[in-house]
Amino acid sequence: MDLFEYQARDLFAKHGVPVLAGEVIDTPEGAREITERLGGKSVVKAQVKVGGRGKAGGVKLAATPDEAVARATDILGMDIKGHTVHKVMIAETAPEIVEEYYVSYLLDRTNRTFLAMASVAGGMDIEEVAATTPEKLAKIPVDSNTGVSKEKAQEIVAAAQFPAEVADQVADVLVTLWDVFVKEDALLVEVNPLAKVASGDVLALDGKVSLDANAEFRHPEFEEFEDKAAANPLEAAAKAKGLNYVKLDGEVGIIGNGAGLVMSTLDVVAYAGEAHQGVKPANFLDIGGGASAEVMANGLEIILGDPDVRSVFVNVFGGITACDAVANGIVQALELLASKGEEVTKPLVVRLDGNNAELGRKILNDANHPLVQQVDTMDGAADKAAELAAAAK
Ligand code: GDP
Ligand code: MN
Repeated sequence: MDLFEYQARDLFAKHGVPVLAGEVIDTPEGAREITERLGGKSVVKAQVKVGGRGKAGGVKLAATPDEAVARATDILGMDIKGHTVHKVMIAETAPEIVEEYYVSYLLDRTNRTFLAMASVAGGMDIEEVAATTPEKLAKIPVDSNTGVSKEKAQEIVAAAQFPAEVADQVADVLVTLWDVFVKEDALLVEVNPLAKVASGDVLALDGKVSLDANAEFRHPEFEEFEDKAAANPLEAAAKAKGLNYVKLDGEVGIIGNGAGLVMSTLDVVAYAGEAHQGVKPANFLDIGGGASAEVMANGLEIILGDPDVRSVFVNVFGGITACDAVANGIVQALELLASKGEEVTKPLVVRLDGNNAELGRKILNDANHPLVQQVDTMDGAADKAAELAAAAK
């Protein structure tokens, strides 16, 4: 879960990372009053979850309160790399910037550790620094058991060759930033630029934080970080029902039991779709091992509520939950939906295999639902679902 800069800034402030004051608004008028409060000058910064706002014209200095209103007017509504600006932060201007550095912590999945990255060549695109002058980007593994003490921070500072006059301040920032990383359950915290200003102070002028959604259970406050405006309504509805659902851009709705099976179902449907006007999977939905009628009904409800869906492929491999239980789940799910007035109007292709497949198939045959048809192989069922989706296009 990625945060906006102003949210990252608030978390930095909470843990003692030095930041400048600022407030976020969604209409330009407020810029005047905030700028007056900040001493008559401000920086107007687009709040979008994408880097390179500065280059795109989304970060502007305002020398007067009126100018802040004008810059906020320019920036609100702007499109930055496909992201519309709905909010701007009106921030205190940094005293003259002398140098711009880069520091971050992230989860290094490949090496199964955490990683500190630091560079004195900050400000600009760090990917470019990494690609063109990798020697300017220090990468130091951080042991999760020992974390970042002042000593460890000094090791990072030395590796990145920070100038002596800022070494101690940068080390302190690294220690507090590690606190943000651990206590907020982040997967990434990044400061770019970490600026040395004319007074000699070091300040975090821009922050990027990505929180670990798996830690939500111990952070009730994470809820307010959810970007409801950007969330896909179907994904939000699925999440509310506790389903593992991801919206995709095709036409064939997919339900399966087990993440691996659903992943391969997506591949098989995409392949089958090549022969049927290029139709593609409309979603990922894993209803898990114990697929009760209710879970099946919830899954079908989400998928059938997707206007892009033209056909549905229910792909089940019976294991601990045998096919007869799943078949009963499907029959009951269809009844449940009908009783709610959400009668199924799109064709369903069901493939049952594995434990008690014969019995499961018989249950569906006996139910004889007009829109449900069975195909016994995964490839065959994918082809049928793709064909039906193409025919309904
Ligand atoms: P990004 O382009 O999305 O990474 O946005 P940043 O917040 O990093 O801003 C881009 C650049 O604007 C920074 O590298 C700074 O040079 C400059 N900048 C940001 N905040 C201030 C500020 O308060 N005062 C001044 N003078 N420049 C700033
Ligand atoms: Mn930046």
